[in-house]
Formats: sequence, structure tokens, C-alpha cells
Amino acid sequence: MTADTITAADIRINARWLIPIEPHGIVLEHQAVIIQGTRIVAVLPMAEADHQFRTRETIELAHHVVMPGLINLHGHAAMSLFRGMADDLPLMTWLNDHIWPAEGRFISEQFIADGTQLAMAEMLKTGTTTFSDMYFFPEIVAQMAHDAGMRAQVCFPLLDFPTVWGAGPDEYLSKGEALINSWKNDSYIMPAIGPHAPYTVSDGPLTKAVALSRKTGARIQIHLHETEFEVTDGLEKQGKRPIERLAELGVLGEKTQCVHMTQISDSDIALLANTGAHVVHCPESNLKLASGLCPAHKLMKSGINLAIGTDGAASNNDLDLFGEIRTAAMVAKVVANDAAALSAHEALQVATLNGAKALGRDHELGSLVAGKLADIIAIDLSDPFTQPVYDPASHLVYSNHGRAVTHSWINGVPQVQDGKLTRIDVPDLMLRVEGWARKIRQQQAD
Ligand SMILES: [Zn+2]
Repeated sequence: MTADTITAADIRINARWLIPIEPHGIVLEHQAVIIQGTRIVAVLPMAEADHQFRTRETIELAHHVVMPGLINLHGHAAMSLFRGMADDLPLMTWLNDHIWPAEGRFISEQFIADGTQLAMAEMLKTGTTTFSDMYFFPEIVAQMAHDAGMRAQVCFPLLDFPTVWGAGPDEYLSKGEALINSWKNDSYIMPAIGPHAPYTVSDGPLTKAVALSRKTGARIQIHLHETEFEVTDGLEKQGKRPIERLAELGVLGEKTQCVHMTQISDSDIALLANTGAHVVHCPESNLKLASGLCPAHKLMKSGINLAIGTDGAASNNDLDLFGEIRTAAMVAKVVANDAAALSAHEALQVATLNGAKALGRDHELGSLVAGKLADIIAIDLSDPFTQPVYDPASHLVYSNHGRAVTHSWINGVPQVQDGKLTRIDVPDLMLRVEGWARKIRQQQAD
């Protein structure tokens, strides 16, 4: 090899193990990932990289597994400030008596900014590089994520009733369209439409949401079939299952993400499969609120794209997607009565490439392949809880938790280095969080 065949690049990551996600189900050893600008230019054995690339920076990860950044496809980021405030309650009591009153009292632009930053700090430290949000003041969330250099699908809320963010559906839709227009074509921020649920949004606004999606290309994310009550209530009031109603209104399609889906009939599966709608599985929230369990394995076998999310920290109560992956893999086996259901490699794909597919960005996110964006994480397996190592994929799903994440890059920019956040001032953030906690505790005491 002569010198003129050597290519200059920015960053080289030397990985003991590498799980590229594509091709599916493989673990590579002693690999180098080469980054130039925002993209991966090569994934190749270290010995070959020595001959082909010269980089200005090399990161040695001798005890680590390197993989694509995780995609947390459903949450309410700023609800992190309500973490642990009301537990051990069923969904409607939890919402009506605790969450909605607290939201009415505390939600403001500053609450959203501080809560979103708290959520992003936790997600970054536990391996998430892309998240989806559905909450109030989405323009603040979009700006916070962009400033932090974190990728985010930001769904503006759509409900029949007034909230702190708007007087009703028409105002939500007009503010939402402005949000979409101000972020379209941004690499980090994907504005989207967030009708809350079939029982909180009537036919008129849902039809307008579909029209807005068709006009702008924005995706739709909706809580759907979260509980048995939601389905029986829909049958009583509308004479049909909520998903049937959505299908008739044109809501289901390749740009639609249905969150939860714990109640699923064979006809529901056919509707999802035929329309190309995606399902976002949130097993820990479903377990904690006793909502039911999504049949992950059955959906995947039916060809439906399954992604994963933590939901908000008030119903989980953490945003560690590795924990969610483990729960998903465990629960899938019991629900399918099959220990082979949702294997370790499948679970990792759900949290990466499948999330990218639901966002319509699987051509550039979700796997470590030359040409894709450099959204990469590294997990240290040298701790006692991940020793010895026979199969890194097994450890990532069954033994690991997100706190073993030591490095992450988004668009080639370091976000976590040796376990420390590079772009969020954590001590300053903790002061602001404690300020909110004091106010919320005071209100609870009154
Ligand atoms: Zn939710």
C-alpha cells in the first residue's frame, strides 16, 4: 500500500466488539468505525483500517461493544419532573387525579425546557441518540433538542379540549403546522402530529390531522388500544374498535405510529399490516399501569414494524432504553409462550433499525453501515455484571443496563465521553430540577 491510498478522516473508533444491526444477527470483533463529518465512511477490521485511513482522533474501546444509537420512539420528556410523584395507580385514576391536575398547575415554557433537558441527560447517558416526544410547547422541545445536538421527533399535541398550549383543536393544528414548517428538512428535528388518543380527539380534528400529514409529509403518532377500557368504551360509544375508526378516518398508514396496542384482535393485526402502520411497544409503562401486554412476537411475525419506547418517566419510571429492551424481550416470551420469541438480536433491532424505519429514516439511521449518519454508542462490558463475555448481544439485552454506556456520538459529534455528558451542564440542571421538585412537593402538601 502506498501513501496516496490512505484517506484522511475525522474519527476512528476501535471496537472490541461491534454489532452493526445490518446484517442482522452478527457480532464482529476488532473492528474500526471511521467517521468523516456527520457520517460513517467505513466499518472494517482494524488491521485493514491501519492501511486505509488516517484520522485526527482515535478512540480505543478495548472492553466495549459498539452499536448504533438507540431510538426511543415514545415519551413525554418533560414528565421526568413528575417522576415518582404518583405511583401504583391505574391509568385513568393516574391521569385524572394526579397527572392532569399537576400539568394544569405547573406546565410552562420553563418547566418544559428544564424537564426536557433532564430527560435528554438521562437518555444520552443510557444510550439513546434519537427520541420522540409528545408534550406541550413542542417548539421549546425542538429548540432544546436541537441545541443539545440530539435527534428528536417532536409531536405537537392535539386534543379536543383546551390546555396551557392552546384553546382547542384549531389552535393546536395551526401552531403545529407552524412547527412543521419551521423545522422541515432539519437533520436533527422531525416535527410530527400527536393526536393524544382516540378517546380525547374527535373525528373532525383527526381528519384535519390526516390532511396536515398528507400536505406536509409529517408523521402521526397516537396512543392506541392502551387499555381494555379504551376498546370497550369505543365499542359502546362508536360501535367499533378505536383502530377501525382510525382506519375509516384515514389515520392509519406508513407514516403512522400506534403507541401501546396492548389489545389486539386478528382484524386489528390485518389493519396494521395492510396499512403499513408502525407499532411502538412500551412494555414497562403497560406493566406499571396494568394496561395489558402488546403481543410483540405476533406483530413481528405478521410483518408489522415494531419499535420501542419508554413512555414518560412518570409511568415507567426511567428512560433507560436498555431496561426497556430487556423487559420487552422477557415479556414477549411469556406472551408468546415461546422462549425463542424476541431474541436478543431482534430486541436490539427493534430499538435501532425498526425505530429508524418508523421515522422513515432507515436509509440513514439505525445501523452501522458506511454512508449512514454517525449516531453511535459504546457500552463497557468489563464490569462484573457483564462478565464473562460469551455473547455481547446477550449481555446488552439480558445483563446490561444503560449506565454501562460510556460513549455516544450523534452526527459524529461526541455527546458522552467516558460516561460524562459533553453538552449539558448537569450541576446547573440539577439545581433547576430541585427548584421544581420543591414547588411540586409544596403543592402535594397543601
Ligand atoms: Zn404516552
